[in-house]
Amino acid sequence: MFSASGIELSWFDVPLAHAELANSAGSPFNPGGAVVDVNILPRSMTALAKLPETTVGSTAMAHEGECASFASVYYNRIEREVRKTDASIARILGCAIAHELGHMLLRTSHHASSGIMIAKWERGDLLRAAQGLLGFTPQQAQNMRAEIRVREKTQQGSPEIASSALLNRPTEVRAAGPVARALPQTTSGVGDSTVASHAEVPFKLYRDYAIVARGSVGERHKLNFLIDTGSSSTVVADSLARKLRLARAPRKISVFDSTVVAEEAVVPSLRLGPLQAALLPVVVQDLSSLQEAFSVRIDAVVGIDVLSRSSFTVDYEGKKLIWGSLEPLSEPVSCDPCSPYPTVRLEIGNRTLRVFVDTGAGELALFENRTGVIPGTQVVGQETRTTIRGQVVVKTVEFHELTLGTTHWARREGSLMKGSLFDGTLGPKWLGAKRIRFDLEHKIISWEK
Ligand SMILES: [Zn+2]
Repeated sequence: MFSASGIELSWFDVPLAHAELANSAGSPFNPGGAVVDVNILPRSMTALAKLPETTVGSTAMAHEGECASFASVYYNRIEREVRKTDASIARILGCAIAHELGHMLLRTSHHASSGIMIAKWERGDLLRAAQGLLGFTPQQAQNMRAEIRVREKTQQGSPEIASSALLNRPTEVRAAGPVARALPQTTSGVGDSTVASHAEVPFKLYRDYAIVARGSVGERHKLNFLIDTGSSSTVVADSLARKLRLARAPRKISVFDSTVVAEEAVVPSLRLGPLQAALLPVVVQDLSSLQEAFSVRIDAVVGIDVLSRSSFTVDYEGKKLIWGSLEPLSEPVSCDPCSPYPTVRLEIGNRTLRVFVDTGAGELALFENRTGVIPGTQVVGQETRTTIRGQVVVKTVEFHELTLGTTHWARREGSLMKGSLFDGTLGPKWLGAKRIRFDLEHKIISWEK
């Protein structure tokens, strides 16, 4: 089907023990080109995900048009469909995988009226699929080839990034913080409930900036979630992953400028207030350091992959997370339209920096290896923090003439450290925000004092 579309497809069955090699350059498991993950899930995982009965596959896509790299197909359901015909299960499974690859490479959750991308397969479609009569249209083939060329370029040598949050932990954090994947990946569409028009979830605030709210993962309820817009991927505590008996694959992950080994897994479902994600890819990490830092058990760090699926407001004063369509607050700033992260432009002196707005941070921290020397900045102190990537030197500095949107500060304190990908991170509490609203659909962050 793909060769007819001018696409060469290679299937790499990656053993768990070698999974960490899969994304390494030069690995036998990484052939170059555009790499996407397809998981064939057994009945037990499908049952836990509570997907609609007719669903046989799903693709992870936070918003229409986004770059998705993770799809799942449900083996027992395909088996069930095949029983309606005398087709071979291998052929129908192949067609289901091709359909999900189509969603990823066409960057759409929409369906076509004919061919392999139709929404629902009736018996006649299954028979045609088995005979190899369902394919991609010439236009779809052309779009997929273009998409693969784009992915080939961007995947080569692009570092996977980590949560900024681990850099902003208080000084007594001794060990690992959350790490994350290259891009936000969320399961959406199939199996995900829509967000109610208005919903609120209370939270507790730790160290005056860290937001901890209750949520569920699988059948485990009343879990403590750290709400972290600075984490590109949701992170599940090692202890919770054990209780959920998650199958895990080790994986090397770049954290800013060094590499650490973490594990990844797929949770059957995750719920935070009105947000529900089914079959969510997560990173598994020991989060006990967060427990020490905040004196509260943290079961998961909910990252922007989940949070970005619906606009929400953090009400620090009322101590609640609010979903539902609300007007922007008094101080609006546009986000970078090209970034999947909530990044904004911060001016310091005559420099314009890209920082991301990070609820896991309590301060403004700039990455000095990216920003270089900012004229007029005075170092007033220095300390060493222990993080997942070892000892990190953090300088306390005074910045002059800062502007964010329409807000100006003559001088403010912040930090300098090493980092990458962005120029720095900005905690909403540093802004003095009583409320901050993340409208990632319209790419606007707004706050009020
Ligand atoms: Zn589909």
